Amino acid sequence: MTVKRLSPEELLGLNKFAVDEEDAHIVLDKFICAGCQEKTCLVVCPAVLYTLKDGEINFDYAGCLECGTCRVVCKNKGIVKWNYPRGTFGVNFRYG
Ligand code: SF4
Repeated sequence: MTVKRLSPEELLGLNKFAVDEEDAHIVLDKFICAGCQEKTCLVVCPAVLYTLKDGEINFDYAGCLECGTCRVVCKNKGIVKWNYPRGTFGVNFRYG
């Protein structure tokens, strides 16, 4: 049996997401994020959902893996809401 090694991008591409358009499970305070010097979220999110555009943090919760890393590393409390998605919403890991 041959096992194919998949890249992180290929593995992430296997996931399915049921996005809750009415209730974002992660919400940022743009003013707090704008004043943050470290912007650690840019480098820790395994799904690369935090990006920098014109000096501002852009974030889209739609591909969230629900790992909680951003919540732990955000020392300036820029994440004003972090909950798991409501029932039936969120990531569905499909590897295997
Ligand atoms: Fe990224 Fe994990 Fe935060 Fe979701 S919980 S936004 S995957 S760091």
